Amino acid sequence: MKRKQVIGNWKMNGDLAANRRLLDELLPSLAALDGVELAVCPPFPYLAQVAALLEGSGVALGAQNLNVAAKGAFTGEVSAGMLGELGCRYVLVGHSERRSLYGECDETVAEKFAVALRAGLVPVLCVGETLAQRRQGRTEALVSAQLQAVLRRSGIEGLAAGVIAYEPVWAIGNGETASPEQAQAVHRHIRDLLAQHDPARGVATPILYGGSVKADNAAALFAQPDIDGGLIGGASLEAAAFAAICQAA
Ligand code: PEP
Repeated sequence: MKRKQVIGNWKMNGDLAANRRLLDELLPSLAALDGVELAVCPPFPYLAQVAALLEGSGVALGAQNLNVAAKGAFTGEVSAGMLGELGCRYVLVGHSERRSLYGECDETVAEKFAVALRAGLVPVLCVGETLAQRRQGRTEALVSAQLQAVLRRSGIEGLAAGVIAYEPVWAIGNGETASPEQAQAVHRHIRDLLAQHDPARGVATPILYGGSVKADNAAALFAQPDIDGGLIGGASLEAAAFAAICQAA
């Protein structure tokens, strides 16, 4: 059976003391968890601290963004090589906040995905529609277009070497969750699209759900046949809630 995965996206939250408190409380409750791949993605300045705190825990480290260049005059940016050197296994690409607040288009996201793969990182590709797009019946077309951009650049082998996170924009950070059936329908669509390119990879590629996953709705979401775990924002900052979500996976 495919292993479930749960990845925490801390966004721009935390400080040295709070990170330590959170992981001191969280890690012992995850120690007995077998068969679930876990990761947390702190802000860049805390990667080294969190890498040290995670050592020996089995929980992997991830970052929230990367620049496509290897180095140079890109003030404020961070390269894939730097993330690898700090011990990152994962990097988020195309989070809806990057797309909407920082103007990242599908092509930029696809380039970041390819660069992350080449650097030996596992890119977590975030896709998802806004409420307006859903109301216009464009969810599947929109998600397909986001995936096609990555397929054009990295092929099905590349896309399948990463992780896909379906995150409906209307369900992020606001307590509004897609119902398990709504999420499952889009996950099925994504898996069918992958399977058209390669049936085996269609089955094997992890597809996580993200959008206000909490301790009380995680089990129903993770029970859906095409939901392989979760990308968790707000609830990943609370040890008890994140532990409960990991246990539901
Ligand atoms: C996210 O930002 O990736 C996310 C899923 O956030 P939240 O869980 O807070 O909705």
